[in-house]
Amino acid sequence: MTHTDVAVVGAGPNGLSAAVTLARAGVGVRVLERAPVIGGGTRTEELTLPGYLHDVCSAVHPTGIASPFFSSIDLDVEWVQPSIPVTHPLDGGDVVALFRGVGDTANQFGAESGRYLRLVNGLLRSIDDVVASTLGPMYVVPRRPAAFARVATAGALPATVLARRLGHRKARALLAGLSAHAIAPLNSPGTAGVGLFLGLLGHSHGWPVARGGSAAIARALEADLIRHGGSIDTGVDVTDIAELDADRSVLDVMPPAALAMAGDRLGSGSVRKLSRWQPGPGVFKVDWALDAPIPWADPLSASTATVHIGGTFEEIAEAERLVVAGEHPERPFVLLSQPTLVDPSRAPAGRHIAWGYCHVPNGSTVDMTDAIERQIERFAPGFRDRIIARATINTEQYQVHNPNYVGGDIGGGRFGLGKVLQFGDERPFTLGGGVFLGSSAVPPGGGVHGMCGYLSAQAVLAG
Ligand SMILES: Cc1cc2nc3c(=O)[nH]c(=O)nc-3n(C[C@H](O)[C@H](O)[C@H](O)COP(=O)(O)OP(=O)(O)OC[C@H]3O[C@@H](n4cnc5c(N)ncnc54)[C@H](O)[C@@H]3O)c2cc1C
Repeated sequence: MTHTDVAVVGAGPNGLSAAVTLARAGVGVRVLERAPVIGGGTRTEELTLPGYLHDVCSAVHPTGIASPFFSSIDLDVEWVQPSIPVTHPLDGGDVVALFRGVGDTANQFGAESGRYLRLVNGLLRSIDDVVASTLGPMYVVPRRPAAFARVATAGALPATVLARRLGHRKARALLAGLSAHAIAPLNSPGTAGVGLFLGLLGHSHGWPVARGGSAAIARALEADLIRHGGSIDTGVDVTDIAELDADRSVLDVMPPAALAMAGDRLGSGSVRKLSRWQPGPGVFKVDWALDAPIPWADPLSASTATVHIGGTFEEIAEAERLVVAGEHPERPFVLLSQPTLVDPSRAPAGRHIAWGYCHVPNGSTVDMTDAIERQIERFAPGFRDRIIARATINTEQYQVHNPNYVGGDIGGGRFGLGKVLQFGDERPFTLGGGVFLGSSAVPPGGGVHGMCGYLSAQAVLAG
């Protein structure tokens, strides 16, 4: 290999964002990716039938459209907005939705609508500060004290506590679906913050998909990188960074892989910190090719790309509790994406795709297809009759697909407040010995926003 200033291991959204940041700063940068294609969690493939383009991992991008880094480089992605960011069907054809409008959303909560309005309007007034301090990431010594105080006060709560404050059963169900993105029991501190942040983004930025599929995000980052003089080699499985002939390395990998490829040059503090990392629960996912849209019983779910399936707050809380206890819920919480309702380019004319995944214990090989499809049938009778083909992937297969998904964990490690907080300096990103960590294992954590990579590149530039 020819000598380079910085080698980036892994071409996921964070690795690519780190590389773009460095290349734009005039640093020589080369990205090494083990897979034959770039993108990591932003890949789009014909998983079922020819002409049906499925997102292998991420599909919906509230954190992408809100990402301060993506905005700063004017990322060339066409975000396609459904008219409703998220719906959440309830039994009997009932539904609660996160609308773009706060008032429209609050109106669903009857006499308790004022509680939602007071909570959300206060935060929305300083949404730029909220995004900057949450994705930017959170600083313990806040740069914007008022916004930080508002986010921290409500966000640090368990979802169970915030749900009690919201009161109405529909508001509680909506919060449960949003907070379950944390992949943690809903009585864990900080789960309210995940739900609240994703809800706020629905109001302020929407929950769009990328036209053509999530691979468009990786392609846009790649194009920017190449334009600024960087390069990418695919099909290179890095096992030891000593082979890279680079002055410094940014790793878009999980801590066990970082230890394996760079452990001998790290300080003992970094080795201890990385060794303490633990994965969270895994996921089981199903992709479907469909001959028609999903026949939702409620009147709103055909107007969104994202549907939260699981019923009441209590049902979702129980499903998430069981997963962490090592069990497989009979009625799992299912995250469903139906992008062809807003982006028909991904399937032959008149046909559709969708994916649904549920949380399972880390390393599980249990086939959850039936449980997932039963949950969808509950709110969309006749769904199964629409299926032309399906593909499934369990936690073991996910880890083969991408070793960053340790035991099927897609969140970059077990959820906890410590995972998203950092202390306003380069510490989480700087491992010593010229090695930097830039994957979703560092703040601000999982999701497609590129901020972990961007912040790790800032640490490189500061060093
Ligand atoms: C089913 C599923 C659904 C999701 N849905 C969403 C969603 O809707 N919205 C959202 O925002 N996020 C979603 N996510 C999460 C999102 O995909 C991740 O948080 C994001 O991709 C993390 O980016 P990353 O760059 O840190 O890591 P990754 O995207 O995992 O990229 C890491 C890259 O490093 C490569 N690599 C690993 N080891 C090596 C090595 N030794 N040598 C060379 N290369 C290596 C991998 O092949 C991979 O390409 C989802 C994930 C999954 C699996």
